Amino acid sequence: EKTPVTLLGLGAMGTALARAWLAAGHPLTVWNRTPARAAALAAEGATVADSVAEAVAANSLVVVCLLDDASVAEVLDGTDLAGRDLVNLTTGTPEQARARAGWADGLGARYLDGGIMAVPPMIGVPQSGGYVLYSGSQDVFERHRETLGVPAGTTYVGANAGFAALYDVALLSAMYGMFAGAAHAFALIRTEDIDPAGFAPLLAGWLTAMAPSVHQTADQLRSGDYTRNVVSDLAMQVAGTPTFLETARQQGVSPELLTPYFELMRRRLTEGSGKEDLTGVVDLLLR
Ligand code: NDP
Repeated sequence: EKTPVTLLGLGAMGTALARAWLAAGHPLTVWNRTPARAAALAAEGATVADSVAEAVAANSLVVVCLLDDASVAEVLDGTDLAGRDLVNLTTGTPEQARARAGWADGLGARYLDGGIMAVPPMIGVPQSGGYVLYSGSQDVFERHRETLGVPAGTTYVGANAGFAALYDVALLSAMYGMFAGAAHAFALIRTEDIDPAGFAPLLAGWLTAMAPSVHQTADQLRSGDYTRNVVSDLAMQVAGTPTFLETARQQGVSPELLTPYFELMRRRLTEGSGKEDLTGVVDLLLR
């Protein structure tokens, strides 16, 4: 007997979640502000509720996947959530998640927050690598582990309801740093007659080779010793930065994506940390 699920929100992500639960045989009750989006799912076996109240009353597991925290507030305002297990997969800030957890608690609901590390085509596809970060009620997480694991993998990161959002934003922030570096790299090769499609495999390979360096950073942050297992120390790396800036200048490429990071490296060096790794930049950001 599969756990019945109520799902509020049938956007691109909500619809993908709905299809995954339906395909796995979970009874599903859905609601969406624009009812037309529920029609196709009804044909696939979902029960379409006429109101939020009706949808929430249908099942004890209530999953919400709306645009943002403001839409969650709007949709659930005035709804009786007593005794419900509320799982909020709407992207928000850690502060919003913690406030939402307190709000749900006040209404007698148990709260689990989620941060989706996947795009809709990865949902319901085992081995896609997509997963959802969860934080908040460990009870809710354990009780619904199997059901929550149907659309994507699950990773519980702590009782603090804000942690899923914090991990989510941290991971995506690192991704944007990578995108920024890739943009600069492509700009450099675009100044010459170089095929970007020939360059891309080299770039992907290099980024992949460099990615495990985060383990060394973690090890250094834990030990507090930023000179541990250093391969290229800060003094050497700062000494190399003029080559990057001069190459950008020669090729006529703006260095604006590189300079903020180089500036932090240089600042750390002037504090006498030349024998360290780049890890000290983390501390500069914390001041
Ligand atoms: P969509 O824009 O496709 O859908 C938004 C959903 O929110 C729709 O169901 C929409 O209803 C509803 N909505 C918006 N405002 C309101 C409101 N004021 N009252 C009621 N309902 C409202 O977004 P996604 O489905 O793609 O994303 C949903 C959540 O999932 C977001 O928080 C997003 O950050 C997160 N997410 C999405 C990913 C993606 O790649 N798509 C990846 C990871 C996370 P209506 O149909 O009536 O407009």
